[in-house]
Amino acid sequence: MKAVVYAGYGAAPVLTQVAEPDCPADGVVVGVGATGVCRSDWHAWKGHDPVTLPHIGGHEFAGVVVAAGPGVTRWRAGDRVTVPFACGCGRCEHCLAGDAQVCPRQTQPGFTGPGSFAELVAVHAADANLVALPPDVDFVTAASLGCRFATAFRAVTAHGRVRPGNWLAVHGCGGVGLSAVMIGTALGARVLAVDVSAAALAQARELGAEAAVDAAAAGAESLAAAIGELTGGGAHVSIDALGSPAVAADSVRCLRRRGRHVQVGLLPGGPVPLPMDLVIARELEIYGSHGMAARDYPEMMRMVADGALRPGLLVGEVIALGDVGRALAAMDGPAGAGMTVVRLAG
Ligand SMILES: [Zn+2]
Ligand SMILES: [Zn+2]
Repeated sequence: MKAVVYAGYGAAPVLTQVAEPDCPADGVVVGVGATGVCRSDWHAWKGHDPVTLPHIGGHEFAGVVVAAGPGVTRWRAGDRVTVPFACGCGRCEHCLAGDAQVCPRQTQPGFTGPGSFAELVAVHAADANLVALPPDVDFVTAASLGCRFATAFRAVTAHGRVRPGNWLAVHGCGGVGLSAVMIGTALGARVLAVDVSAAALAQARELGAEAAVDAAAAGAESLAAAIGELTGGGAHVSIDALGSPAVAADSVRCLRRRGRHVQVGLLPGGPVPLPMDLVIARELEIYGSHGMAARDYPEMMRMVADGALRPGLLVGEVIALGDVGRALAAMDGPAGAGMTVVRLAG
């Protein structure tokens, strides 16, 4: 089969012929229809997130099951599917409780094994991890859901518990942040977008944000004050979609009493200081969000299928498999507008 392979960290990814993946006994092989190119793929390529070399990246995919192992009961060849980026083992207490996103033995195609920058990709524990695609959801749209969009959905719904009329502050309007803006708006929240880029704020407004705040124009104290004023007392829910110690602290500071902060942006540098005095005095809640398990996909899929959520609006470039190397190299610079998705079929 054809796949994009790199031999070493930072070495040019090359479109080449490789052996087809074996089908795991409890898993499936998926014929890739589309696959997103994500900054996490860039981190793996650069060696920030160790992988076995040579390596095939890619973790945001949708396609058709071409083979199923003997232990698989729920899926068979021909099924249209997608998967969360973190696949659970299907057997531990967390997986059995439906929380595969925190499985200690999780597998991640594109990180713990070969990924979806290929015509075929293997998925373990298929019964626990595959998600059926409604007929109306095409592969490019589905591929754009698996990582950033699903993580934002879980942050806004399961952790944020956003209700109609609530103020939702979204700090950082890249892929995850804009997804959160769209999801919050669809759920009837009043969304307030925070970023330092005028273009990102304009895009957030197009996707439904009612208010936009330029974080560069305000210091930490005045940002919280500005948000407090705009929202009449602070945000009910606030998300750090960027991942920086300063933004995480800003997100906690801008909350209304009894508000909820959700940390979605990664903080690879280790522990960060948060204003815990406010957490006590205002009875704030703090959550971390790490993707979303297959169990929780149907509600999001319904909203996509009926048009309440339109993740396709967040897709920028649609490219060919041979362009993956160029797309990864482009991430050496600042993020472009929209998600890049590779279309292989359908
Ligand atoms: Zn991703
Ligand atoms: Zn597990």
